[in-house]
Amino acid sequence: MQRELIRYRPVVQGIILVFLCLIPLQAAFSSYSSTGGQSTAVSLRDITVTPLSNAATITFLVTGSVQTVVIEKKGTNVAQVRMKSMKATDKALNSALPKPGVISVQAHIERADVLVTDVRFKREVTSMSVIQRTSEKVVVRISLGKELSASEQQSGNNSSSEPSTDWSLSTIVIDPGHGGKDPGAIGIGDVQEKAITLSVAKKLRDELKKSMPGVNIVMTRENDSFVEIYKRGEIANKKKGKLFISIHCNSMPEKPHPATGFECWILRPGKSDDAARVASRENNAIQYESNRKKYDTLDAEIAILGSLAQSASARYSEQLAANIRSAMKRKTPLADRGIHQAGFYVLVGASMPAVLLELGYLSNQKDVKTLKSTSGQQKMAKALAEGIKNFEKGYAESLGD
Ligand SMILES: [Zn+2]
Repeated sequence: MQRELIRYRPVVQGIILVFLCLIPLQAAFSSYSSTGGQSTAVSLRDITVTPLSNAATITFLVTGSVQTVVIEKKGTNVAQVRMKSMKATDKALNSALPKPGVISVQAHIERADVLVTDVRFKREVTSMSVIQRTSEKVVVRISLGKELSASEQQSGNNSSSEPSTDWSLSTIVIDPGHGGKDPGAIGIGDVQEKAITLSVAKKLRDELKKSMPGVNIVMTRENDSFVEIYKRGEIANKKKGKLFISIHCNSMPEKPHPATGFECWILRPGKSDDAARVASRENNAIQYESNRKKYDTLDAEIAILGSLAQSASARYSEQLAANIRSAMKRKTPLADRGIHQAGFYVLVGASMPAVLLELGYLSNQKDVKTLKSTSGQQKMAKALAEGIKNFEKGYAESLGD
C-alpha cells in the first residue's frame, strides 16, 4: 500500500520555496524582506502591541531567527504582518492584550506555517516598517494618522484575496470524493463510492440552500468527472470557501465485512493503523493523476500541518466534526465510529476548517442499504446540513468575542 504517503519526511529546503509559489506573495505585499537562512520553524512566544503618541509597535517574541517578514497595510486601519516558517500555540496566538487605540489583534497560522497577524487600529495606518529583528524578537513600527469614525474603523476592511480575516460562513465547499476514472471504493453489488458521494453531496447542497439561505455553496464536482485532489483544495481557496466538507465512503477489502458505521476525519498526524489504512486508501486516488510530482510538496505540507495541530482552523475543524458527528448519530441509522485524525491530501489544500467524512461501509450489508437508498441519502444529507448549521451557531458566537 502507499503507506509512505502519510509518513512525515523531513522538510527539505526548496520545498518551502515551491510551497511559497502557491501564494501570490510578491504581488500582494508592499514590503518584503528575507535573510534567506535555514527553513526550520521558529516558535512564536508572545505578541505585544504598544501604543505610542502618533505610532505603535508590534513586538513578536520568538525563539530563533525569523526567515521572512512581510508587512502590509490592509484597507485604512489594519496593519498586517506575515512571517514564514513559523509555528505557534493557541496561547501565543492569543497573547496580545487589549490596548488603547487598538480595536483588535488577530493572529493565526495560514498555509501550514505562515503566521498572519492583523492589528486593527482606531486611527489610519500611514506607514509600516520592521525596526528590529533578532533571534529573540521582531519589532514592527506603525505610523498612525487621523482618528477614524466608528463606521470607518470597521469598514476599513482588507481587500486581500487571502481567506484570512473574514471568518463568516459565506461560502461552503462540498467535495464529493472521487469521480470519473476514479471510482473510489467498490462495495457489495459493485456499488461505486463515487456515485454515492456525488448523490449525497447534491442532497446536502439542496439542504444547505434551504437551511442557510444566502450562503454560497460550491461543489468541487457536479457530475461524474475526474478532479485531481490538489484541485479540490484549490477550488475551495479560489472560491473563498470558509468551510470544506469532503464526502467519502469506507470499505474493507473483504466483502461482506462486519465493520460498520460513519467516521469523521480531521487533518492531524495519523498514527494508528486504522488512520494509515483510511488515509492511504483515500490518498490512493492520486494514482489516476498524471502529474504526481506536486504531491511531494503536499507531503511536506502534511508534515508541517501535522505539527500545527493548535492552529485556528484545526480547532474549528474539530468543532465542525463534533457537530456533524452528533447530528449523524441522531438522524441516521448508521453506527458512530468517532472522530479520527490523519493526513489526507484533499484536506491539506484547503486553508479553512475542513472535515472528511466516511459515511459508512460499502462492504457492510446493512450500511450499503442506507448508502444506496434515496431515503438513507436524504437522512445523511439532512444530518450533515444540521451539523454544519449547529457549527455555524457556535462559530458565530466564538467570533463575536
Ligand atoms: Zn473515498
